[in-house]
Amino acid sequence: MKAKQIIRSLHSEMQKIIIAIDGFSSTGKSTLAKQLAAKLNYTYVDSGAMYRAITYYFLQQHINLSDTQAIHEALQQIKLHFEDNKICLNGVNIDAEIRDLNVANHVSQVATLEEVRHFAVQQQQQLGIDKGIVMDGRDIGTTVFPNAELKIFLTANQQIRTQRRYDEMKVKNEAVRIEEVEANLAQRDHLDSTREISPLRKAADAVDLDNSHVSMEQQLEIAYEWAKQKIHHT
Ligand code: C5P
Repeated sequence: MKAKQIIRSLHSEMQKIIIAIDGFSSTGKSTLAKQLAAKLNYTYVDSGAMYRAITYYFLQQHINLSDTQAIHEALQQIKLHFEDNKICLNGVNIDAEIRDLNVANHVSQVATLEEVRHFAVQQQQQLGIDKGIVMDGRDIGTTVFPNAELKIFLTANQQIRTQRRYDEMKVKNEAVRIEEVEANLAQRDHLDSTREISPLRKAADAVDLDNSHVSMEQQLEIAYEWAKQKIHHT
């Protein structure tokens, strides 16, 4: 057996834990969560993709966000699942579509709605029922898995976050200006941290990780060490 396979099989025999990664927009939560899950042989869940997929559906169906009945009915038409870490809406992979600026400009409004949060949180909790999961989002350590064994609160300075998201969009050939990206991040951070239900907060028992000047490899090593400690003490 190769070293990586041995580590994988060791991990699968060990006690599994839940790892929650929360933080502001574009702090690199998904990158860290995905890499950490792969290293631990855990499931990775991008909870933001669920809110984005719901938003995408609402936009397509021209749902009026003040019409609670329309929202209720629309949610009944939505089936979400992940395939190779990509979100599928009613069986169709829409991972690329949900990353555009139009969805990004509406998602935080949609994510304030009580019924939407209830719909998403219930499914997220179901995904974590057997543990062995790394989930990233805004309320994972506070609401979705308040008993998660490891909670990480990621931060990075705003200029760096803006540049990272802008570079990401540029790679995908999206015609955006850096000012638009900056405005979108500021708008989402504001809405996410001031909304009534499950606002973005650092859980009291979360550990801070500021990755402004830390490489992806370094942040993965730090988080992996924390995870190993928790796994051994569980
Ligand atoms: O993580 P991402 O940036 O893709 O999330 C998109 C939006 O979904 C966030 O800005 C937030 O409004 C919402 N969200 C949330 N709770 C989560 C994950 C995402 O409200 N757990």
